[in-house]
Amino acid sequence: MAGLINRWRERLPVSAQTPVITLHEGNTPLVLAPRLAKRAGLGPEAVWLKIEGANPTGSFKDRGMTMAVSKAVEAGAKGVLCASTGNTAASAAAYAARAGLRCVVLLPEGAVALGKLAQALAHGAETVMVKGNFDDALRLAREGAGGTWALVNSVNPYRLEGQKTASFEVVEALGRAPDYHFLPVGNAGNITAYWRGYKEFDVERGSGRPRMMGWQAAGAAPFILGRPVAKPNTKATAIRIGNPASWDLAITAREESRGEIGAVTDKAIFEAYGLLAREDGVFCEPSSAASAAGLLAFAKKGGFKKASADLKVVLTLTGNGLKDPDSAKTLKSRIRTCSADAAAFKRLLAKT
Ligand SMILES: *Cc1c(COP(=O)(O)O)cnc(C)c1O
Repeated sequence: MAGLINRWRERLPVSAQTPVITLHEGNTPLVLAPRLAKRAGLGPEAVWLKIEGANPTGSFKDRGMTMAVSKAVEAGAKGVLCASTGNTAASAAAYAARAGLRCVVLLPEGAVALGKLAQALAHGAETVMVKGNFDDALRLAREGAGGTWALVNSVNPYRLEGQKTASFEVVEALGRAPDYHFLPVGNAGNITAYWRGYKEFDVERGSGRPRMMGWQAAGAAPFILGRPVAKPNTKATAIRIGNPASWDLAITAREESRGEIGAVTDKAIFEAYGLLAREDGVFCEPSSAASAAGLLAFAKKGGFKKASADLKVVLTLTGNGLKDPDSAKTLKSRIRTCSADAAAFKRLLAKT
């Protein structure tokens, strides 16, 4: 059955009357990362990547959006509204197009990756550039919502319900919950949703619970400072958020799971972004690589010292690398030119 509402219907707040707006999101691959594992000092079958870039619009946001837009249609909304660092806008635009709803997206001017903006425009979203940051845009979105406008940011409770299904998929793929789950933290909806999903399965199936390991960019790390950041700054634009909407829920996830929320520098994030692409063959966006940078930082400080032989660690790679071509251009790479001549090409090959 295609799409996560049909797949997990009995665990979601939908009824037979709910119209299902789906682009066949969910059911994403869980892929081993043996090289990254080695760098973390772990065995070749310890580290798994949940490739959320394989969702229809290229990020995990589709999991929440199928729910939020389906419920908006059910409630009679005529349009959806969101603030976004890019991926929520891309996803809302696609699902709204599918549903025949208007879609207005509020983006922080100059801080959205090119591919994400292209998606919002291609799907016909009415795009508004806000002279401010994401937190300003979210404030405007909240004020504009109501009446026939449904707010589809992760403060919409249906978003987190859809997103929790990623945990169900991880447990089904591994046969149990992992010991640790690493993921980037921006607005903190996803860490909240994963924790909810793991708990739900554990209560019913005894599948266990991971430690939730959330990672922020050092320049946008309100959880580390213990207070909102007025001017968040990082090149990992999807987690460039100073005042997370799901603050208390994320703290609860950290406490209940005996996990951690840490920070990694942009330098560490971009290194991990390059390593994932070069050594394990997975091209994610920079924000997603915060999970891998966090894994390496945690391993380096001896976090896995007492690890069991069958340790399982899952990293969510939240979005697809193709969304952010400008960041990709900063990776170490080489392009050579060659005349259209076989002898010249053979000389070039020999030179490596
Ligand atoms: C939205 C997003 C995040 C942050 O998720 P939150 O639920 O806001 O913490 C991280 N990475 C990518 C690629 C995203 O699109």
